Amino acid sequence: MEENTPSSPLATLRPHHALCALFFEGKGYSQTFVDNMTTFLADPTRMLQITSGCDALCQACPNNFNGLCSDEAKVALFDQRTLSFTGAIFQADQPVPLYELCQSAFDNILQQGLLAEVCGECEWAKLCQGKWQKRDLNRSMLPYSGIDSNGG
Ligand code: SF4
Repeated sequence: MEENTPSSPLATLRPHHALCALFFEGKGYSQTFVDNMTTFLADPTRMLQITSGCDALCQACPNNFNGLCSDEAKVALFDQRTLSFTGAIFQADQPVPLYELCQSAFDNILQQGLLAEVCGECEWAKLCQGKWQKRDLNRSMLPYSGIDSNGG
């Protein structure tokens, strides 16, 4: 749908995808998915509306069947956990920029050592957890964090 594409004025994001955005490195479920996510992440100031269902990233995912993730129960749990650990920014009625969502996930989940607790069952979890141990994350998603080159 037009409203969920990265090129539209207002796209949607399901909460746990703020974490995916911080660790994405060009791998994914298909080349179409990777291309879409690459385009999506190119603008950290993109205004987003949080959604509880399939979002702008799901739109290009082969696991999206008629607007429902094939692993919906699991990813909905990731979303619920993300919401439980982050602040009001994820609950806002108004659209918020991608970087603010990523900053909240960084502050409230990653820095608190909660990454595995949020999405440890994900097939990509080992990749993300390994990157976090090295503080190897997409710093362009955190333009105002002031974190140094070591992520500290
Ligand atoms: S696996 Fe599910 S939640 Fe993740 S991008 Fe694909 S459809 Fe969306």
